[in-house]
Amino acid sequence: MSSSDSAVVDGLHHVTAYAHDPQQNIDFYTKVLGLRLVKQTVLFNNPSEVFRGPTMYHFYYADGAGTPGTVLTFKPHPSIQKGQVGRGQATATAFTIPDDDDVVAYWKDRLDVAPGATRYPTTERFGRTVIPFRDHDGQPLELITGESDVEPWSDGPVPDAFGLRGFHGVTIHPHNAQATASVLELLGYERVGHEPTPQDGDWTRYQNPGSDHGQFVDLYNEPNMHEGSWGTGTVHHVAFRIADDERQEALRHKLIDAGHSPTSMKDRNYFHSIYFRDPNGINVEIATDPPGFLHDEDEETLGTELKLPPFLEDRRAEIVDELADISLPASR
Ligand code: ZN
Repeated sequence: MSSSDSAVVDGLHHVTAYAHDPQQNIDFYTKVLGLRLVKQTVLFNNPSEVFRGPTMYHFYYADGAGTPGTVLTFKPHPSIQKGQVGRGQATATAFTIPDDDDVVAYWKDRLDVAPGATRYPTTERFGRTVIPFRDHDGQPLELITGESDVEPWSDGPVPDAFGLRGFHGVTIHPHNAQATASVLELLGYERVGHEPTPQDGDWTRYQNPGSDHGQFVDLYNEPNMHEGSWGTGTVHHVAFRIADDERQEALRHKLIDAGHSPTSMKDRNYFHSIYFRDPNGINVEIATDPPGFLHDEDEETLGTELKLPPFLEDRRAEIVDELADISLPASR
């Protein structure tokens, strides 16, 4: 049974971005941010000149269990062009940290000395402290104080009291805020706030009522911002989570009825996905919670081996030969 009310998302599932160097990427997200590498796999798509299909890594960083709404993924390869963050993209990915002055001080100090990190002045948005920073590639990231039902990855280098607690949300900078707002409302988001930026723009905050983490999307409107271009240091797409295939299919029909053109369902091995572009060209994915990251690995050994989907397993030797050697962080 699927009523139209169930055809909504439950906050973020994952955010997927581009990076240049696989080892730098692993070191930054595991050793600096203290996330867990929960899956090392490859691109499942058809290869092209830039995207090398299964000879290009796809890394997933998350909490200890790979909980949807904590998962930042990267496609790292030296052949990818440098991107520019700007209009028409998701322009920041934010993680929640505990609302505590000592935690804010810890992260400011940590990011000031972390290899590859560039930290910007701490700000406030919707009454919360925001620590903006970037990685080696210029990927825009934020730590925002708040509440979350996510436990931090406890076996990494960051003590539990300071650890990241899943996504806070994402910032999207559309050409036409109203068009993206309509998509968010269709997905089940509610408008909960509006405030001016220090420049000439404004923020509008949307919240997903069905989630206790990864529930915010801030639409950023800044008339003087330049256009974004895809490449390293930028986000490729934002994926929202949905409970199961049945609800996804109901949402797919709801999207079609509203004039969008979602793809048919694709099996991504760890989730089932549909994709569409919103009227501003923002790439949106709707991904199911099941089967999840534990379906081909135990929780204890998540991320420690290269995992391939069944249809690529017979090409393993050739694929491994093409991939750069990487070293993983030592477990405590
Ligand atoms: Zn995705």
